Amino acid sequence: MPIDFSVEPEFQADLDWIDQFVREEVEPIEAIFPNGHLAFDKTFEPAQKLVRPLQQKVKDRGLWALHLPPHLGGMGLGNVKLALVNEILGRTVWAPSVFGCQAPDSGNAEIIAHYGTPEQKEKYLQPLLDGKITSTYAMTEPQGGADPKVFTTKAVRDGDHWVISGQKWFASHANYAEFLVTMAITDPDAPPYQRMSMFIVPKDTPGLRIIRNVGFVTEKAATHGYLSFDDVRVPADHMLGPQGGAFVVAQVRLGGGRIHHAMRTIGEARRALDMMCERALSRVTQGERLARKQMVQERIADSWIELEQFRLLVLRTAWLIDKHKNYKTVRGDISAIKAIMPKVLHDIASRALHLHGSLGISEEMPFAGLVMQSFHMGLADGPVEVHKVTLAREVLSRYRATEDLFPSYHLPEVRARAIEKYRAALEHIDEQV
Ligand SMILES: Cc1cc2nc3c(=O)[nH]c(=O)nc-3n(C[C@H](O)[C@H](O)[C@H](O)COP(=O)(O)OP(=O)(O)OC[C@H]3O[C@@H](n4cnc5c(N)ncnc54)[C@H](O)[C@@H]3O)c2cc1C
Repeated sequence: MPIDFSVEPEFQADLDWIDQFVREEVEPIEAIFPNGHLAFDKTFEPAQKLVRPLQQKVKDRGLWALHLPPHLGGMGLGNVKLALVNEILGRTVWAPSVFGCQAPDSGNAEIIAHYGTPEQKEKYLQPLLDGKITSTYAMTEPQGGADPKVFTTKAVRDGDHWVISGQKWFASHANYAEFLVTMAITDPDAPPYQRMSMFIVPKDTPGLRIIRNVGFVTEKAATHGYLSFDDVRVPADHMLGPQGGAFVVAQVRLGGGRIHHAMRTIGEARRALDMMCERALSRVTQGERLARKQMVQERIADSWIELEQFRLLVLRTAWLIDKHKNYKTVRGDISAIKAIMPKVLHDIASRALHLHGSLGISEEMPFAGLVMQSFHMGLADGPVEVHKVTLAREVLSRYRATEDLFPSYHLPEVRARAIEKYRAALEHIDEQV
């Protein structure tokens, strides 16, 4: 299968429609409600009144929840086309909700679709797919997120129920959620990655409490839940997937979700670059436009190169996923884009901020939020370091150690082998050449 990122004219027409629709219809919602978390509050009528008609237009055009396979109402587009859509949606925090593909609902929907029982699908999946409710993914614990082996939240079987106790940390949008998907230790004596099981927990279950909502400096609201489970009883049929299978289930959700974030980051970074270019062409200092100054030109050139490199890496990874139809085969490639994504956004957004001077640092511009968003990207699906370790392991697995004292590419050895190979032809040539 040759690498080809071009699309048929009909899909290009869809992309053009999405681009114009996001610019003209969705971006104004962000201008009115800059707090993107409100997209998850389905009870906040002032915003929902604007969002619902746009969602209908997206549905009418057949572009709703595009990440889903056809049997769940999506188009089964494949990851290259999804990348091309998501790089447009990344321009504004409201676009994923308008198009029915916002995280963590999209990932939660994927795992319920994959592992859910018919009852779980009817009760939780359908309203999620319809965009009627919000969900949360609660995995991280206060004592550690990057290493799930330190998790202590447990679920103990009691008759027809599981009783969950423990704490979860930074569960985004828990305050708006109807239910959460969480993992707890059910088999403490099993090997570390087979100890935990996944559960669906309705938000109103007695014993489930938000200790507080945590925010960070550029966010307009605190919406990352610090949660306490005090003997939370859920019916046994609320286990999602097999007992001890939480990590297998989680992989289904993280595989696709990881690359969707990367796709949208392209859109965020491009928006910052667009702004940088307009400003450089407009602002005059010391008698000439900023765009005439070579240090400014260098920053614009660097930003363009880094963005296009990143975009190609994302598209190539999307293409590989489509080709192999298996996230595991391209785990290293996915880790690579996860690892570089925060840096690309950070560097481009920081240059854009700086080029705008005091205006750039002010809350009248989006740059500080984008810089902070780059840190979000470097943590939310696991820290950059963890992705680099995965990638490095994958790369190293393609090599073999040498038993010799000197490396296999030691030049004197290489030369000796080459001379040996061509000895007959070299007989009459001076060895010193
Ligand atoms: C905006 C945002 C939203 C989030 N939403 C959710 C959510 O909805 N649900 C959820 O469950 N979690 C969520 N998280 C939590 C996220 O998954 C964790 O922050 C992440 O897994 C890291 O865990 P930690 O914060 O406990 O950091 P730690 O595990 O304490 O790691 C801290 C730092 O240690 C270093 N480090 C860690 N491991 C290694 C290593 N192997 N090698 C080298 N250095 C290392 C890294 O520098 C890392 O940043 C969210 C986080 C953010 C920032």
